[in-house]
Amino acid sequence: MKSNGSYEPVIGLEVHAQLLTQTKAFCGCSTRFGVEPNTNVCPVCLGMPGTLPVLNHTVVDFILRIGLATHCRIAARSIFARKNYFYPDLPKGYQISQYEEPMCVQGSIEIDLEDGSRKEIGITRIHMEEDAGKSIHDLSVDTMVDVNRCGVPLIEIVSEPDIRSPHEAYLYLTRVRQLVTYLGICDGNMEEGSLRCDANVSVRPKGSEAFGTKTEVKNMNSFRNVERALEFEIRRQIQLIQDGGRVEQETLLWDANQNVALPMRSKEQAHDYRYFPDPDLVPVEVGEPWIERVRAQLPELPVARRDRFASDLGLPRYDADVLTAEKDVADYFEATLAGLGADATRRTENAKAASNWVMTDVLRVLSEKKIPVRDFPVPARSLASMIRLIQDGTISGKIAKEVFEEMVATHEEAKDIVQRKGLLQVSDVSAIEEVVSLVIAANSPQVQKYLGGNDKVFAFFVGETMKAMKGKGNPKVVNDVLRRRLEALKK
Ligand SMILES: [Zn+2]
Repeated sequence: MKSNGSYEPVIGLEVHAQLLTQTKAFCGCSTRFGVEPNTNVCPVCLGMPGTLPVLNHTVVDFILRIGLATHCRIAARSIFARKNYFYPDLPKGYQISQYEEPMCVQGSIEIDLEDGSRKEIGITRIHMEEDAGKSIHDLSVDTMVDVNRCGVPLIEIVSEPDIRSPHEAYLYLTRVRQLVTYLGICDGNMEEGSLRCDANVSVRPKGSEAFGTKTEVKNMNSFRNVERALEFEIRRQIQLIQDGGRVEQETLLWDANQNVALPMRSKEQAHDYRYFPDPDLVPVEVGEPWIERVRAQLPELPVARRDRFASDLGLPRYDADVLTAEKDVADYFEATLAGLGADATRRTENAKAASNWVMTDVLRVLSEKKIPVRDFPVPARSLASMIRLIQDGTISGKIAKEVFEEMVATHEEAKDIVQRKGLLQVSDVSAIEEVVSLVIAANSPQVQKYLGGNDKVFAFFVGETMKAMKGKGNPKVVNDVLRRRLEALKK
């Protein structure tokens, strides 16, 4: 019998991303989320007889953006197909999708593995599909249907079966979310359903080229759930094979409460969509000028931005990774850095200072308050002004932490807080001398230790002096004065 470790999983992911267009894919209805049910509808998205869909060109722009960003080949001509099935939340009886001749094919997305190496995950295709409506079951009256989402544009990004572990799947999804948010085509919110993922998973003996029978796992609504569901399904398949059984091709639904993936009832998965080309829509023909226009408007992508942060700004690779994980955070960091001035000789120093504040303090507050950086109460230029107060010696780094908390709480500017609370840093040597005298006089046992050659006790004196000065002492002057006074006692 083979051990668990002698099998390898083979995983392919299908990611649905809801596009951030103002209007639906084939009519002028708003895509706004959270409005009164069944208000964003018209005869076109309800599929009334005699209506004709008209393609929203922004949808094509958005698909081209992700296609170019993932190095896909863009089809000069692609067609729309009807995906037919019967369901209460689908008044038309079909979704407009793409089946044969999708818009983007044969691309790749790069992920960074823990050991520092990079791995390419192939992209089979990226195509467009309109969303269906929503059945709402949790009402005491009955099941109700909201068709506001009918016709909202989605893209489906289908990967090659190149993923070899649940963690790689997590890294891939993280990169997909990063890409679509950088491109401004999707808000990337998996919990709210703007990003959805299904997985195809099989296992095979290590070294084998042939694929095992795959199952499809659906209903995973967070990145963490994808990882857990895949871990579960891989274990289940290996166990089944080891027990002499066979993996059946089937669709499983992840149950996040019970941590199990259970088979869908067979009736539910017996779908035959009878795809055929939509007779109401002409093929989309995307010429070079269109592609080049979109290419010219592509923003700097996450990997390029991270590499620039590391090479141009001299930031450690770790900082560059954390700062570019989210586009808005990277923008906030760059705005803070810009607020520190354009002096090229201080560029690296300023970058590290801004990075430290954003990575530790700003991100901590965001996670405590569970808010996105665009709702962070301290604008980047205000954070920059505060960092400048540290740089010019107005406040100490220690006091700055206090000022920062106050800025978050009151939205005041740093200089106003410093003035109001009397937090100016004390660099005046005679004032510090006075405090140092008191500290030395009050701690003779430690003085004896110092004179006996114990240099570690020096930090104790620094701490006591700073405490006595309520953190306002200039650390460099405090250190200098203490060292001079303690050394003088040796003579
Ligand atoms: Zn409509």
